[in-house]
Amino acid sequence: MPDVRNCRKCGKIFNYIGGMPICPACKDKEEEDFQRIKKYLYENPGASLTQVSTELDVSVETIKRFLREGRLEIANEEGNLLLECENCGRSIKSGRFCPDCERTLASSFKSAASQMKLDLDSRVNNEKRSLGLRYLNKEYEKGK
Ligand SMILES: [Zn+2]
Ligand SMILES: [Zn+2]
Repeated sequence: MPDVRNCRKCGKIFNYIGGMPICPACKDKEEEDFQRIKKYLYENPGASLTQVSTELDVSVETIKRFLREGRLEIANEEGNLLLECENCGRSIKSGRFCPDCERTLASSFKSAASQMKLDLDSRVNNEKRSLGLRYLNKEYEKGK
């Protein structure tokens, strides 16, 4: 059974095949917009988001999504305020997370594993310590 959905952009019903819920016509249009933005930015390096949006008649939301998807990157420093890291809210140029959070997220699994090892190590250390105490007590008794 085909997965039929409403296009998020034009509302038309279409056969959904995956990815963004956008009909083929709107997807084509979007790809065309992307190529136009790319060309425009090539000719006008450092153009602001609003500039691109008004000059090319592409919605700011669409441009932002290209940024989120990592297809576009903000070249000028002022433009950095457009996107925020989804984790810490810091300004980023492209994608979803700032480099720091990306690193943290990538290593979070690793650190969870090392935390587990740390717990284990401290438990072993505690056992050693209590063993040592017992041993010392015995020595004390012996020497008495
Ligand atoms: Zn559509
Ligand atoms: Zn962050």
